[in-house]
Amino acid sequence: MAMTITRRGFLKSAAAAGVAATVAPASAGAEVHPPGWSGAARVDKIASNCDLCFWRCGVLASVADGKVVRVEGNPAHPQNKGRLCARGNAGTGLLYDPDRLKTPLLRTGARGEGAFKPVSWDEALDFLAGKLREIKEKHGPESVALFPHGIAASFFIPLMRAYGTPNIGMPSFAQCRGPRDVAYKLTFGRPVGSPEPLDLEESRLVVLIGSHLGENVFTSQTTAFSTALARGAKLLTVDPRFSTAASKSDWWLPIRPGTDMALLLAWMNVLVTEKLYDREYVEQYTSGFNQLAEHVKGLTPEWAAPLTDISADRIRETARAMGAAKPAVLVHPGRHTTWYGDDVQRGRAMAILTALLGAYGRKGGMFLPTSIKTGGFPTPKFPVAARGRADGAGGRFPLAGEEEGVTNGLVDATLSGKPYPIKAWITYAQNVLGSIPQQARTLEAIMKLDLMVVVDVLPVEQTRYADLVLPEATYLERYDPPMVVATAKEPFISVRMPAIKPLHDSRPGWWIARELARRLDLLAWFPWETPEQHLAKLVEPTGVNLAELVATGAVAFPGKPYLEDRPSDERVFPSPSGKIELWSKQLADLGADPLPRYTAHEQPPTGFVRLLYGRAAVHSFGRTQNNEPLHALMPENAVWLSTATARAWGVADGQRIMLENSDGVRSDPVLAKVTEGIRSDCAFMAHGFGAHAPGLRLANRRGTSDNALISRVSVDPLTGATGMRVNFVRPVRA
Ligand code: SF4
Repeated sequence: MAMTITRRGFLKSAAAAGVAATVAPASAGAEVHPPGWSGAARVDKIASNCDLCFWRCGVLASVADGKVVRVEGNPAHPQNKGRLCARGNAGTGLLYDPDRLKTPLLRTGARGEGAFKPVSWDEALDFLAGKLREIKEKHGPESVALFPHGIAASFFIPLMRAYGTPNIGMPSFAQCRGPRDVAYKLTFGRPVGSPEPLDLEESRLVVLIGSHLGENVFTSQTTAFSTALARGAKLLTVDPRFSTAASKSDWWLPIRPGTDMALLLAWMNVLVTEKLYDREYVEQYTSGFNQLAEHVKGLTPEWAAPLTDISADRIRETARAMGAAKPAVLVHPGRHTTWYGDDVQRGRAMAILTALLGAYGRKGGMFLPTSIKTGGFPTPKFPVAARGRADGAGGRFPLAGEEEGVTNGLVDATLSGKPYPIKAWITYAQNVLGSIPQQARTLEAIMKLDLMVVVDVLPVEQTRYADLVLPEATYLERYDPPMVVATAKEPFISVRMPAIKPLHDSRPGWWIARELARRLDLLAWFPWETPEQHLAKLVEPTGVNLAELVATGAVAFPGKPYLEDRPSDERVFPSPSGKIELWSKQLADLGADPLPRYTAHEQPPTGFVRLLYGRAAVHSFGRTQNNEPLHALMPENAVWLSTATARAWGVADGQRIMLENSDGVRSDPVLAKVTEGIRSDCAFMAHGFGAHAPGLRLANRRGTSDNALISRVSVDPLTGATGMRVNFVRPVRA
């Protein structure tokens, strides 16, 4: 099934819909008049940050009569320079969503029944503080777990650390970018970070491996990507699916899923054996080249071709293209990297490839972050937990982050009671039934808890299993912790500030965390009374004028993005050796492969195809499907099937089918999209749809959930991250 499609051949195709069209230019924000708006003459523009995804674009919220009538891009913001994506433009759709959680809710019926009574904030927080004291006394503070997501969680994390639990698990690590960040840290001494420091504007060749930019939209990254292509940068896309990015590519390599490592190793083989790597850079900055050269010696394109289903000629041609464009080659490190369970090692292969091309800290590759020294109030040390972490971070998963934890490790501990029982979960700004795989296990764990608390803006899927629901104000109604972004060419500090007072009886996260701290006698960790004081202290050492920051929403600082910008005595690579570690002593010491090795992954059994999933341009996770304008743009997902597979299965384009995975788990009905643009051994759907959340009137049961079909995972032994592209599906009659 070797297919190669060139840019020219596909520019005219329907699939080649413009990438740039997904990002609206500055000032494109739609004016939305909320019910009851009188059409006031005076309009104030409040600078803040978008929270429809985690990219942190600057916005200006126009406020009239106490109502937000428009959200547009902030031209003064260094991140997005006035541009917003479709989701960013739909901020008022979240603010005025009639389905919002409006008041604290306390469960009255059986767990999962969905019966609640409204209570006051005092009742809610007194109840929660009482429960937390009781659990601490009976089971120890470690038996409470926090599942946070996003920047705003930064107030809840210190609260729970001060309470005494080390058990904090972020899906952004174990279900997303954890393996990638660990791999780059092992190699370069620092994780990739977010936003990714990609020098797209200067790149001569962009390499995407399973990254579907254009469908995966982050305003500044998508804009830079479009600019690079318009400027003539070449694009090499490795993807089993003919994605929007693939449609723009000079080379599309529709790889057999699960074999990316073989391709990466074969590319390295060509670079090394044909001496196409950056010899000067490798000599000056790396260690372990000889071991690497020996390791990839026999891993030729001819070896990789039958594994990857990409011809040896094509592998060699693309490796040579990289060699010719070096060092301005951007091998995109990806973002959602939890695929097959050897994900740290695949990340290492991508990092090593980047190093061979001399593309780290160089123009057109990945640039170096520039840190900003900020301040803060002194706070006591967190208490040392009597028992270690329950999720395996730092233990059976030696490279899992202390800060980020292993969500699925917490599910395991809740189910098994080992190493000790977890009795309470607090979830913040995420739906664990959508973010953590093996949904049935997650639900079983929730049903075992003594206490389940949901802090959110909307009644997401898990809300009905909560004992207590705390309605948070939206990003347009609250302060969040200031964002200090080092991974931009010009690093910046950016603030999220309320445009209006919280609607309904919702409260900002900082207030909820602080009020709970007050009830738990933990105010020593919150030695400020207002978020303005918190912000002023943070920016104190930077010399930034606070009034200017508040007026503009962000302040940028000069960056030092390239190696040539750094003094010769700076330890640019903070790895143990101070070098880029191609051969990893850290991994060897852990008994892991010091150089990445190809391992075969299970292929679909007869009659099944592999389930792949990804992003949609107008939605973030499962958080935007109930937002009216975004729902109108994409109300449900569809499952992509190749023409050959659909024919074999007797499925027609547009037909509603159900999928069944190889464990017998069935999906909700979903539309079939029959296309030549996917390999016949895969199916693909956009993530985040099909939530069973009756309180979300637009999103409830629209489309189908990829996560519901992920009943198997392949766990990365180094990080505990869950490889999720290991499930196989077939159609059943709807
Ligand atoms: S990329 Fe879009 S949704 Fe994300 S922060 Fe920027 S405007 Fe908001």
